[in-house]
Amino acid sequence: MPAPEASTQATIERAAALLQAGGVVAIPTETVYGLAASALDPVAVARVFEVKRRPAFDPLIVHVCGEAMLPAVAVGIPDAAYRLMERFWPGPLTIVLRKASGVPGLVTAGTATVAVRSPAHPVARAIIEFAGLPLAAPSANPFGRLSPTRAEHVWRGLGDAVDLIVDGGPAEYGIESTIVTLDPEPTLLRAGAIPPDEIEAVIGPLARGSTPGTDAVPGSAAHHYAPATPVRVVEWDSVPAASRSRAGWLGLRHPAPGYAFSRVLSPSGDLREAAAALFESLHELDERSLERIDVERIPERGIGLAIADRLRRAQASSI
Ligand code: AMP
Ligand code: MG
Repeated sequence: MPAPEASTQATIERAAALLQAGGVVAIPTETVYGLAASALDPVAVARVFEVKRRPAFDPLIVHVCGEAMLPAVAVGIPDAAYRLMERFWPGPLTIVLRKASGVPGLVTAGTATVAVRSPAHPVARAIIEFAGLPLAAPSANPFGRLSPTRAEHVWRGLGDAVDLIVDGGPAEYGIESTIVTLDPEPTLLRAGAIPPDEIEAVIGPLARGSTPGTDAVPGSAAHHYAPATPVRVVEWDSVPAASRSRAGWLGLRHPAPGYAFSRVLSPSGDLREAAAALFESLHELDERSLERIDVERIPERGIGLAIADRLRRAQASSI
């Protein structure tokens, strides 16, 4: 893995090609450096979580280049959102919208909304445009460490865990984007680089709320997707046959006999693939009117920690 590369045209094109191929690339933005992957490729997004070594899944911000890419990520966009884009894009304003069906559940932590922004940094814009892809990107730092405002910070924190680090100079703001939602009412979800009064000047008063990643009680049900069907984490051989017939099974590698419906996260036992399939699988099981969902215990290593965390929360919220 090379040290940060200057953002020449050749590097931008290589970054775009890597992203198209499912790679993970650190890119400069005007807020902080982002750890980017195609927002339409769940396995690539799983790698982002793996590289960050975060033991939980957060919804990620999807980065687009202008409004042209919006149809791939969001639907039912309200007028007020267009007024905000007109005024603040490109720039550090993130708008929460209804998600398009092509956005994997791993990007939105299973919720029906997606956070979108169009960064102003010319290198970020060039990479998104060249790749022709919306990019899901959290900050490019390992879990628990400061957000990186220079390519060297990314290099020191993540080193060869990423495919490429593009050096676009120091981040202009060094703080995160402001996040707003418009539904059910205009609400400030996170303070950030754009002051709320500038937003209020465009769309009127903002209520105050919190984002899924920052709510007072970590993992509290309010902002997180959890199946309505009760979830139990079990060992694959621990459930008596007699109690399976009205329940569903979510296995890591193998289906289980006797269940009304059975689904597998990754036939090869690849935890990255399992993370990529997790939210869609839970939704699918949840829609089957089952009495219960039995989920096989996942090995708690690497990205398995985040999967296990999510399943524990689903189990806790069904007690
Ligand atoms: P960042 O730390 O800049 O990568 O931004 C991530 C933040 O965006 C987290 O606090 C998330 O909770 C928030 N976020 C991402 N997606 C959504 C969403 N669909 N609804 C509300 N907040 C979101
Ligand atoms: Mg962050």
